Amino acid sequence: MKYSSFFIPTKKEDPSDAKIKSHKLMIKSGMIRQEASGIYSWLPLGYRVIKRIQEVIEEFHNENGINQILMPTIQSADIWKKSERYDTYGKEMLKILDRHNKDLLYGPTNEEMITALGKNFIKSYKNLPRYFYHIQSKFRDEIRPRFGVMRAREFLMKDAYSFDVNEEAGKETYLMFFKLYLRIFKRLGIPIVPVRAPTGEIGGDLSHEFHLIVESGESDIYIDESLISSDFEKLSIDEIISLNSFTDEMYLKERNKQNLKKLKSIELGHIFLFGTKYSKSFDFFIDGETEKFFPFMGSYGIGISRIPAAIIEYQSEDNTGIVWPKNIAPFTLLIINLKVDDENINKFCKLIYYSLKKIGVSILYDDRNERPGIKFSDAELIGIPYNLIVGKNFIDKETVTLKDKYLDEEFDFKVKEAEKKILERLKH
Ligand code: ATP
Ligand code: MG
Repeated sequence: MKYSSFFIPTKKEDPSDAKIKSHKLMIKSGMIRQEASGIYSWLPLGYRVIKRIQEVIEEFHNENGINQILMPTIQSADIWKKSERYDTYGKEMLKILDRHNKDLLYGPTNEEMITALGKNFIKSYKNLPRYFYHIQSKFRDEIRPRFGVMRAREFLMKDAYSFDVNEEAGKETYLMFFKLYLRIFKRLGIPIVPVRAPTGEIGGDLSHEFHLIVESGESDIYIDESLISSDFEKLSIDEIISLNSFTDEMYLKERNKQNLKKLKSIELGHIFLFGTKYSKSFDFFIDGETEKFFPFMGSYGIGISRIPAAIIEYQSEDNTGIVWPKNIAPFTLLIINLKVDDENINKFCKLIYYSLKKIGVSILYDDRNERPGIKFSDAELIGIPYNLIVGKNFIDKETVTLKDKYLDEEFDFKVKEAEKKILERLKH
């Protein structure tokens, strides 16, 4: 992609209403634009980050037999009356009246709709298990939308739903999602910590949240510090159920827990095995081997649009820019041409751009006719992890410089072997 044809409206000044680093940097780097309180547009750079996160999530879900669908954002109030959540969900639900005076709402979550969908198609234990997910906008009329996309009103979520024959099978599914989440966050470059979360009133319910420990986070978690670096993927379902780390609400319920450390964090995922709560309220009972039964259900969410903000909060204290983890970066390499009026430099930049692009390196080529100062400050802001700087040294010493932002180091390469050397570094 050529920078000259890619729209990145960076800003010099800090936005006056942004209180935390991620909000500031996402506005300054031209990733998002606020349209109304808690409602944002994703601009080209930000949307590329979102799409990369989605791709990882899709890959992991698809290969585990979790089928992608797309349910609508607008839901009928009828299904929420069935589950008796229409009145209890509270003011976060945005209710809408259509022209025929029919009650609709902008979905804050989709348990009701997926249950209605399941009831329509799943008729026998032979159809189970079934797993579905979708990536879709949710609306919750948060009392205090703030911190940009971190606590928005309209936000993007991946929500998955499971149908199983009984509790035992449900727990296996729950364990599959638990491990899937660990692997997804690992791939995204996010050191996540699972904690136990409160469950509903029905016994046997199970819930965990996935948190990123960050000082500026809005959540409080209580964790057994010896667990932080442990390999959660090895845990059995019983070990997960008795995990010695908690959300603040769960901590209050459990009481008498000692040697736990209270830390600030950001909630990025939440899984819940709630059993037959919704299948019962929808009279969704199906044929078993001997008798009819209510499918056992769970739901599994990831706050996709919160993730870029969380990653920025997690990164170093200095406020100058972002460094995107490899599997999220909008581009891997930024080629900075500092002398667009030099024919040889232009030729070299184009050559390396096309030949690396051809072998699949994702590149933004800064071909703009702008001062070096502007190019460098934009490069700092937008967080592309590798920057190839082509300027004065190309002419004087026949070298180019590759900046590796992960290491915060620069490497000079001879022009002749630049391509090979760049590829070697990108592989690190
Ligand atoms: P929170 O405690 O942060 O309000 P929640 O527990 O209400 O979140 P869930 O219903 O568990 O949220 O939703 C699944 C995921 O969606 C959360 O783990 C979080 O990452 C994300 N999420 C929830 N609310 C918001 C919001 N207002 N803005 C952005 N992301 C959100
Ligand atoms: Mg939650």
